[in-house]
Amino acid sequence: MAHDTTPDASRADVIVVGAGAAGLYTALVAAREGARVALVSRSPLAESASYWAQGGIAAALADDDSAELHMEDTLSAGRGVSREGAARVLCEEAPARVRDLEALGVRFDADRRGALALGLEGGHSRRRVVHAGGSATGRRITRDLSALAARHQRIEVLELTSASSVWVEDGRCIGALVEAKDGGPRALLARGTVLATGGAAALWERTSNPRGATGVGMTLAHAAGADLADIEFMQFHPTALVSSDDGHDGFLLTEALRGEGATLITEDGERFVEELSPRDEVALAVQRQLGDGRTVLLDMRAIDLGRFPNIVSALHTAGLDPASQPVPVAPAAHYTMGGVATDLHARSSLPGLYAVGETGCTGLHGANRLASNSLAECFVFGWRAAHAALGEPAVPGGGAPPAPGPSPVPPPETRHALWRLAGLERTRAGLEQLAGDPFPLARLIAGSALAREESRGAHQRADHPATDPELDLRHFVVPAATGARWEEWR
Ligand SMILES: Cc1cc2nc3c(=O)[nH]c(=O)nc-3n(C[C@H](O)[C@H](O)[C@H](O)COP(=O)(O)OP(=O)(O)OC[C@H]3O[C@@H](n4cnc5c(N)ncnc54)[C@H](O)[C@@H]3O)c2cc1C
Repeated sequence: MAHDTTPDASRADVIVVGAGAAGLYTALVAAREGARVALVSRSPLAESASYWAQGGIAAALADDDSAELHMEDTLSAGRGVSREGAARVLCEEAPARVRDLEALGVRFDADRRGALALGLEGGHSRRRVVHAGGSATGRRITRDLSALAARHQRIEVLELTSASSVWVEDGRCIGALVEAKDGGPRALLARGTVLATGGAAALWERTSNPRGATGVGMTLAHAAGADLADIEFMQFHPTALVSSDDGHDGFLLTEALRGEGATLITEDGERFVEELSPRDEVALAVQRQLGDGRTVLLDMRAIDLGRFPNIVSALHTAGLDPASQPVPVAPAAHYTMGGVATDLHARSSLPGLYAVGETGCTGLHGANRLASNSLAECFVFGWRAAHAALGEPAVPGGGAPPAPGPSPVPPPETRHALWRLAGLERTRAGLEQLAGDPFPLARLIAGSALAREESRGAHQRADHPATDPELDLRHFVVPAATGARWEEWR
């Protein structure tokens, strides 16, 4: 790879925006390949969704498993919309990425014989989920990768610094404008700019995500001219804690608890759903009980809670003892299937701009993400983005840097409106009301949800309750200019 020759402190080979699992790994892979990387991180470590991940990474590693079987499960969860090519890439490459993480020093949980311990989760037909420290997987991985990034000679970590716009010249992304919390703006030039700013679930009032997950990358990319896709698909997790304490409300009670035998009951002790059904079905069943005025509780009394120490400890601090009492739960916005539309190398429609992890949308997840495929996606497409970005041509000097872009922070009214009008069950009237919201990304989500006149996976329309087979494999693409369109992705 040829490096740019201009000695300029504001010039890197690759800029990575966001230091969750996707951003950290992309930065490390690019640096390993010889690139000078600027890693821009807005928040302290604990504020990424990656840090909070409780399940693990899905990869077909067992003797009785294969990429084909993993792919079948992924496509089945995606409800006929997943892009097969992207699912294939994920399932074929996830095992190598797990091995690479091990080589980087991440210690995954092992069984008694020293082999990787593989967990079973809802929607997976084989045991294929690797963990690190039980339910502390995300914390372990982000901690290990950020320590590596911090001491890597070719990675400049710009902490407590936010990207505020994407720098575009002559129809190509040539870098980004960043702003340190305690400093002024700084323009960065690079041949490849990778957005890894996480998802958009915190646009909804009730969420399992950190508050900063407001679709920042989508807002930045769209303002710069890149296409978005599938943004009508928001996955609602069925079991987020209900608490009057804001700090605990929305705390995720992982699916693995139900995998171990925890049950969902009403206040009368009645079970009302098969607990390991797909996430969208369980979430809807819970929401309907709540809509009928019942309380829904997760009963963990019969399971071995020793495997979930961080969950037990969080519940104790919320004043709850799961070993002796069921805890109240309700759905919460959890995972953004859509995002910045990309090809299979994480390239957006704007040359030089990439999107990985929850910010990107390869079409892999279709209408419903399979549990633990998202961390796998961070590593598989992060690796691909790092390699592709290094192949970009060098950028010229760069003229005047861009002005800061639109604010990615939604007003509270917008978060309330998204929860009420684009929640688990949507109607035309509600979405039309949302289409007038002052926050641009909320309007785009409303437009996409209006266009999809069917119910499928995470997108349920009370006025269009059936799935429309005409929309199989069809993704709704929202360009920066006018002219939203359907595209078939294979
Ligand atoms: C509670 C919970 C549990 C989960 N459990 C699992 C699981 O077990 N398995 C699984 O596969 N998935 C799980 N997920 C989903 C998974 O964690 C996420 O999809 C994944 O971690 C997203 O990683 P990311 O790197 O794309 O984004 P994030 O981890 O969210 O990181 C984004 C980073 O970008 C930074 N950022 C944002 N805007 C800017 C800006 N303008 N400038 C600079 N930096 C910026 C943020 O501060 C943050 O550090 C879980 C999610 C949650 C919330």
